[in-house]
Amino acid sequence: MSIVESSSGKSPFDFALENFEIAADVLDLSEGDRVKLRSPERILIVSVPIQMDSGEVRSFTGYRVQHSTSRGPGKGGIRYHPNVTLEEVKALTMWMTWKCAVVNIPFGGAKGGITCNPKQMSQNEIERMTRRYTHAIHPIIGPDTDIPAPDVYTNSQVMAWIMDTFSMARGRLVPGVVTGKPVHIGGSLGRNEATGRGVFNTIECACPHLRMHLKGSKVVVQGFGNAGAITAQLLDSAQADVIAVSDSSGCIFTKDGLHIAKLIQFKETTGSVVGFPGSETITAEELLALDCDILVPAAMKNMIDANNASSIRAKMVAEAANGPITPEADAILEKKGVFVIPDILCNAGGVTVSYFEWVQNEQHLSWDLQEVNSRLETIMQRSFSQVLDIHLERKTSMRTAANALAIQRVCDTNRSRGLYP
Ligand code: GLU
Repeated sequence: MSIVESSSGKSPFDFALENFEIAADVLDLSEGDRVKLRSPERILIVSVPIQMDSGEVRSFTGYRVQHSTSRGPGKGGIRYHPNVTLEEVKALTMWMTWKCAVVNIPFGGAKGGITCNPKQMSQNEIERMTRRYTHAIHPIIGPDTDIPAPDVYTNSQVMAWIMDTFSMARGRLVPGVVTGKPVHIGGSLGRNEATGRGVFNTIECACPHLRMHLKGSKVVVQGFGNAGAITAQLLDSAQADVIAVSDSSGCIFTKDGLHIAKLIQFKETTGSVVGFPGSETITAEELLALDCDILVPAAMKNMIDANNASSIRAKMVAEAANGPITPEADAILEKKGVFVIPDILCNAGGVTVSYFEWVQNEQHLSWDLQEVNSRLETIMQRSFSQVLDIHLERKTSMRTAANALAIQRVCDTNRSRGLYP
């Protein structure tokens, strides 16, 4: 896979930098402030050799990158995907720095990944790969330095293996080294649903601003993994009509709205949403162009680009995925008057409840679900209204407003701490 991954010939890190400079201009940041934030603090590339079930030995490439640790330990997920590249991981770390700052939690930004196809690997192979990767990145992770979490195609089981491997090396249990663990080994209640719940909270906040009502609104969800499915479920329970969804196998549509609880069950048993009784199959282009009120891109990066952005008819786009809209597509949507809730705000519920999990681990206590959800809602509402205020005052897009709020916070910290030595 080349580092150029979009029709414009730019890498995801180029896109992250472009958006950084736009917000830095709004803040009128000096070159001295910018230079420190343009590149990651630390990049670790590791090879991860493992024995496959067949007996063959294969080596995978893994990454752990820390963009900024000035506001706290690095924080961010680990993804297992064939398209993982260093440029993608670098972009994701920068977004994590802004994401943690926009919701004002005391973490910096980090991210990791392994270039692999977990769908073609057995559980035993995934476990061996996870443990060997943890061993390789062990020197730079820890509850006070850098705390991984789930991301694309990793889950609570993978986090449990990371925690176990790290703890065995330390000779004591270290639950705070990862978040998104199973609840019975120190995970937080509500963490599994947190990203989708946060997306839902921000959509709820955006409705009065746009004079929209959730009840009866038409929703399209692109991607039906953890974030997409939970968002769909919460919107469905608020009486919105989820009329179309997609996953990596295809897209389905029904004009009266899908029964989301049944659809989740259907995907669990068949492995895909395609073929859900009562739905018709449509193309990916048709899905994006559907007449709807809310579009939730919850799949991968760059799904909305210069080629398809003009076909979008939604009034609101809620970015549950990281980086689903390219900067060129952003400009097209802005011109059309589409209200975009940017990823670093929209999907920050996941890392916010990760923070709650880490706090509970550090204090050796556990909160009940209601406490987790109500603290999450408070943070999402407050962050949304702070970003909205900047959007209205400075007349910038919501993305630039969110980036500006976050970058301002990181710069304030950097300036107060000063430049070492
Ligand atoms: N992978 C998630 C994200 O992109 C969660 C990160 C975390 O909880 O540390 O925000």
